Amino acid sequence: MTTSERQKPVFRFAPSPNGSLHLGHALSAFLNRDMAEALHGRLLLRIEDIDQARCTAEFEAGILRDLDWLEIDWESPVRRQSEHFPEYQAALHALIERGLVYPAFLTRGEVKARVAVYEAAGQSWPRDPDGTPHYPPIDRERPETEWREILSSGKKHAWRLDMRKALDLIGELLFWTEIGDGRTGEIAAEPGIWGDVILSRSDAPSSYHLSVVVDDALQGVTHVVRGLDLFHATSVHRLLQVLLGLPQPVYHHHRLILDADGRKLSKSEGDSGLAELRARGMSGTDIRRLVGL
Ligand code: GLU
Repeated sequence: MTTSERQKPVFRFAPSPNGSLHLGHALSAFLNRDMAEALHGRLLLRIEDIDQARCTAEFEAGILRDLDWLEIDWESPVRRQSEHFPEYQAALHALIERGLVYPAFLTRGEVKARVAVYEAAGQSWPRDPDGTPHYPPIDRERPETEWREILSSGKKHAWRLDMRKALDLIGELLFWTEIGDGRTGEIAAEPGIWGDVILSRSDAPSSYHLSVVVDDALQGVTHVVRGLDLFHATSVHRLLQVLLGLPQPVYHHHRLILDADGRKLSKSEGDSGLAELRARGMSGTDIRRLVGL
C-alpha cells in the first residue's frame, strides 16, 4: 500500500452472515460507499461471523451476491472474523492481565432466574439499553485464586469486563464524534449503562464488542457508518478503545428502515429481503430509491 493509500479515509460495511440482507443493510452499504467515494476513501467489507452456530457460508455467499447486484465494490481480501480469533484473544488477555476482566460462570438462564427472584420481591434490577439484565456481581467479587481454581476444573464460562473497575481506572468522561442522523457532535459515552459486558462468550472466543473495536483499529477504519440501533453500543466501543490504546474513528449512525408497523426490519422478513426484491425484477437503482437515497 502506498503512503497516499494509507492516508485515505477508510470505511467498512460489516454484515453478519446469520441471515439474508434486507433494505436496512442496503442503506448502510450505499451510505458507506457514497461517503467513501465523496472523501476519495477506501471501502472494506468485513464478515462478522464469530457466532459460528448461526452464521453460514450460504448466507455469506448471499451477501456477496446482493452487494454485487447493488454494484458495490469493496477491497479484497474480505476480513472474516472467524479467521482472527487469536487477535481478539490477545486483546482479551491484555485486559485479563490488568485485572479488568473476570470469568463469568452463570448461564443466561441462571441470570434470568436470579433477576426474577429479585424482581418478584419488588426490587428493581438494572438493564442495558437492549433490555438485558446486568450480570449479577457474584463472579466479579470472586478472588482470582478462586476463579483460577474453578477454571482449572474446566467449567464453562464467558469473560466479562469489570465495568466499575474500568471506569475507575479511566477516571474521566469519554466522548465520541458523531456525524450521523440522530444526535451529532461530541457525544458523552455512557458505558456504565451496559453493566459488565461480555468480551468473550462461552461458545465463541470473542464477542461483538471486542471484535469490532479490534478490527476497526487493525483495519485502520476512520469512519464507522452503521445503523442507529448501534448508537448506544458505541459507548462500550469508546471505553474498549481507551483501555486497549486503540485510535477512535468518527461515527455516523444512520436512520433505520422500519416495516409497516414501525418495527426495525429483521433478517427473516422476506418482503424486504434484497434477494426477494431482486427476484421481483428490481434493480440497484430501484433499491436506492426505496431506501430514500
Ligand atoms: N455486524 C453488525 C450487524 O450486522 C454490524 C456491526 C457494526 O457495523 O459495527 O449488525
